[in-house]
Amino acid sequence: MIPVNEPLLEESDFAPLEDAFRTGWISSAGRYVDEFEDRWASYCGVGHGIAVSNGSTALQVAVEAVGISAGDEVIMPSFTIISCASPVVRVGAKPVLVDCDPVTYCMDLDQVAAAVTPRTKAILVVHMYGHPVDMDPILALAEKHGLIVIEDAAEVHGALYESGRGGNAPVWKKCGGMGHIATFSFFANKLITTGEGGMVITDNPEYAERARGLRNLCFRQDRRFLHTEHGYQFRLTNMQAAIGVNQVGRIEQIVERKRQAAREYTQRLETVPGIQLPFEHQWARAVYWVYGLVLDDAIPFDALEFANRLKAKGVETRPFFLGMHEQPVFHDMGLFVGEHHPVTERIARRGLYVPSGLAITVDQIEKVSLAVREVLA
Ligand SMILES: *Cc1c(COP(=O)(O)O)cnc(C)c1O
Repeated sequence: MIPVNEPLLEESDFAPLEDAFRTGWISSAGRYVDEFEDRWASYCGVGHGIAVSNGSTALQVAVEAVGISAGDEVIMPSFTIISCASPVVRVGAKPVLVDCDPVTYCMDLDQVAAAVTPRTKAILVVHMYGHPVDMDPILALAEKHGLIVIEDAAEVHGALYESGRGGNAPVWKKCGGMGHIATFSFFANKLITTGEGGMVITDNPEYAERARGLRNLCFRQDRRFLHTEHGYQFRLTNMQAAIGVNQVGRIEQIVERKRQAAREYTQRLETVPGIQLPFEHQWARAVYWVYGLVLDDAIPFDALEFANRLKAKGVETRPFFLGMHEQPVFHDMGLFVGEHHPVTERIARRGLYVPSGLAITVDQIEKVSLAVREVLA
């Protein structure tokens, strides 16, 4: 079976981990946490990094650090992971869902603009499957209405966006470095991994300070064990940070490896009828976190059956996200009942991704592509 993801760690990634282990700095205290935070934040072009236990807790911290609270509305895509909606619901605010673009699967910009109300506090942008959201219109909208922009950059380490295109000084910016605050995941299938791990990054010193507090039980600086705010224990260990720190230095290579794997797939699959392949806009450097396939309506079976047929040929896959508006757990809370987001509903049923971890080889890509071709023949 070709696994859907296999991480690629290098010998050079091991030295800091061994050092952390041998010197006994195995908790969240220790130099690698600071180093990892500094290096990743500065790569993304912002001043502060706050390492946390995973990408989901990073979102919880970010939502609370910017002050989203009961009664606020947060515009976000329906097509995403539950980690985006959960923290908003937990603070008593309301996720306002929009559908996604059928080509990039990122949130639909016209629907974002139409969803703004006097209660809107923030836009939670999710860069999907390695492709950036078109940020200029989002940032302009946020500026106009005084909204906070949170970027969930868990799937786009190293992705670039061309800002100001059409003008006389366009600039390429890093995903995660454009909003007021951003979050990353370092789960084993992400472009940089610490096994489990995450980070909040921001240029705003107040958000950074609140995020640091929220990560560590809101212990007060002046008096430990005195609490005036309610926090969490979401710390990353020094050993985990030690695994990630060296990967920051390799990020350009990592991105190139992902882009090369995507090119290998596209070369082999672009002539196969009946499937939609990942797309890259001119204004984006996508990082192809996963290589997604969406079945055309003409194909007489859905992604579940597609996955079963690929599995029978030794290829492991994962289905696309199921929209937040279709989640029973939220319906039970009275949320999103009767809502429809047709693109999200369609790709949730017609989409899956094929093996695309960093360790994938051309030989495996060849086998997977052949299996896809046979199943669709
Ligand atoms: C992976 C992912 C997360 C969650 O990260 P974990 O580290 O698994 O908690 C959040 N958002 C998006 C878009 C993701 O892909």
